[in-house]
Amino acid sequence: MSDFFERKKTQLGIELNEVQKRAVLQTEGPLLLLACPGSGKTTTMIMRIGYLMEEKNIQPKRIKAITFSRASAADMAARFTRFFPHHTPVDFSTIHSLAFMIARTYLEKSGMTYELIEGGGKAPKSVNKQFLLKGIYKEVLKEDCTDDELAAISTFISSIKNRMIPLEKWTTLEGPVEKAGRIARQYEQFKTREPGHLYLDFDDMLVLAEKALRTDDELADLFRRKYDYLLTDESQDTSLVQHLIVEHLVAHHGNLCVVADDDQSIYTWRGADPDYLLAFRKVYPDAQVLKMERNYRSSKEIVETAAKFIKRNKKRYPKEMYTENAEKMPIVMKQLDDPKRQLEYITYELLAEKELKDVAILFRNNASSTMYVSELHRRGIPFYMKDADDKFFSHWIVEDILNFMRLSFNTERKDIFAKIVLKMNLFISRKMVTKFEQSKTTGNVFDAFVQSVELKDRQIKKLKDYKKGYEVIPEMRPLRVIQLIRQDLGYEAALKSRAEKFGFRFDHLLSILDTLEGIATPSRTMVEFANQLKELERAVQNAKFNPPENAVTLSTFHSAKGLEFRRVFMIDLQKGIIPSEEDEGDEEAMEEARRLFYVGMTRAKERLELLSYQQDEGKPKENSRFLNEVRRLLVKPIERSEKNEPMHPKKIRRASVTMNPDGIQKRDELAVGLVVIHRVFGHGEIIEFGKERLKIQFAKMEKELDIETVLQYRLLEQVKG
Ligand code: ATP
Ligand code: MG
Repeated sequence: MSDFFERKKTQLGIELNEVQKRAVLQTEGPLLLLACPGSGKTTTMIMRIGYLMEEKNIQPKRIKAITFSRASAADMAARFTRFFPHHTPVDFSTIHSLAFMIARTYLEKSGMTYELIEGGGKAPKSVNKQFLLKGIYKEVLKEDCTDDELAAISTFISSIKNRMIPLEKWTTLEGPVEKAGRIARQYEQFKTREPGHLYLDFDDMLVLAEKALRTDDELADLFRRKYDYLLTDESQDTSLVQHLIVEHLVAHHGNLCVVADDDQSIYTWRGADPDYLLAFRKVYPDAQVLKMERNYRSSKEIVETAAKFIKRNKKRYPKEMYTENAEKMPIVMKQLDDPKRQLEYITYELLAEKELKDVAILFRNNASSTMYVSELHRRGIPFYMKDADDKFFSHWIVEDILNFMRLSFNTERKDIFAKIVLKMNLFISRKMVTKFEQSKTTGNVFDAFVQSVELKDRQIKKLKDYKKGYEVIPEMRPLRVIQLIRQDLGYEAALKSRAEKFGFRFDHLLSILDTLEGIATPSRTMVEFANQLKELERAVQNAKFNPPENAVTLSTFHSAKGLEFRRVFMIDLQKGIIPSEEDEGDEEAMEEARRLFYVGMTRAKERLELLSYQQDEGKPKENSRFLNEVRRLLVKPIERSEKNEPMHPKKIRRASVTMNPDGIQKRDELAVGLVVIHRVFGHGEIIEFGKERLKIQFAKMEKELDIETVLQYRLLEQVKG
């Protein structure tokens, strides 16, 4: 038995501590492992699985390991293979996929048919959750719902189902919008209105699986007999209905290992129930509870600061996180000038990093990511982003800007004009636009429009100005064109009234325009800009489904849970972002926001950088209060990095970029056919050499790189001989 630990120590260089060993050996009966970040919860869980297989001869298929997301299931499977390369991995899966399997069996057995409504059905007449909810919202509240409201209702429904609140009570609940409970109930009634047929969303799978296991003994027995051991990781984010599914499955043998850290509970808004763990012994009276407080992941500075930081939360199990790890580097806190400088700073730092896979950029809102993706792509820095936001590219604002541009290629196109004229802040009606479209008038659309419909002098004057504006567009660089559309063509003013009318967040809409400007900056022509957008969309999808090997990770704080990186940048640490405006004043929400910040901090092994900015678009911005808390807690006073130093690219280079002394620095040393080596992509051959960009065929892919960057940072070295 102890041989197992000796063997693992020699094979893997990991020697489990006493508590970890106990957790591994305690295979029979219920066990709650309540532990700090980086204390080896996931490691111990995997060792336990290996122990069951190697020492107790349990077949892999008799063991079920559950975690909270597909990404972390994949992460666990990868760790398992690293630890036990000669064993068949057990089934690592999410509770949703397990529940789907149970629900499907149940429905088939009862002769019911079903249809998934999540993610948008492909069939022409298929029911789609989003559309369905939008329709019901309009029916109940007599107005259109905004994207934010739709998301809030979806979360509300998810949360009440996960909490198992009975349907009769839904209308009495306080929801995110007026009559939310009624909307939810109508949604539910629609899904079950056809006899023998069900429309199902993801949460229904959980509810159905739980019901099946509770009410159908035969089926419950079938699934109980499948697994002799169950393990659940990240259980602080398990909801009541999910806990009950697990309870039903282990009812006979009680062989359950639950791994959790209440300080990392970040999904209570979606119905996670960390309090269940408090009552764990009520459900499983003979449960063992073990605590692990030693952090193996992070440097002393990070562990000590994070431990003090989380203690500011009142609602938590007392835990004393500590580490024996050495001191590494002080936690860096930088306040940059604005978001662009923040991006610039990170890009320069990444250009100096060899092992990009050890680095992560973490943010609160996914909206921050497109700007980063665009810049990283332009600089040829490979990135990985599991929840990449490819919706950006199909956003209506992006479509609007492209239409404004398209019109400049042919100012007689009535169809394009009709799509954007309502967005030029002219105060005209749709009726007028239709009249214009149907009229026979031709020629320049601005003149033709004035001729076909009745307008006020003010409107006519504006249209004349717009016509003049359009005359100069073809000569302009895309960045200037976007600025002209925003200001001179009234687009931003129109957006403002649209935001007020439909309840969109204006600052969010502006940030989309800012991102577009960022993407447009290097483009010379509008065609190039449009192509750049397409290419970027492909790159984002690639980063999601087929990530390059040595890539920097971009992730939300939420999705980074369970992962670790040598170096972590936490960005946009601003008031109003983390904690969000909605969190302010709500004690529970504030504690959850603090836990989220804590999850971010505890991802870093050696180097943690907390970044914020002073202003955005000329508006002063305040730091996140958490940033200020950390500043006060810092074990060692930090010196210069605390001050806001202006970012002179030269200075950054001197300070941190270790450049390849043999890297090519002169343009005339580059040529088609030259064989080069890139520190990340490896060997390649230059196949195209333009004015600004360079195409290289590397072993695995073709890459286009910005020549200026390549020379400035000596990214390529000539392969001699
Ligand atoms: P999180 O709360 O973030 O999910 P965790 O508790 O699951 O963290 P792990 O990811 O299992 O922690 O472990 C963190 C790091 O510590 C890993 O790099 C792991 O290899 C290392 N580690 C865990 N236990 C030990 C040990 N006994 N000796 C040496 N290293 C260890
Ligand atoms: Mg873990």
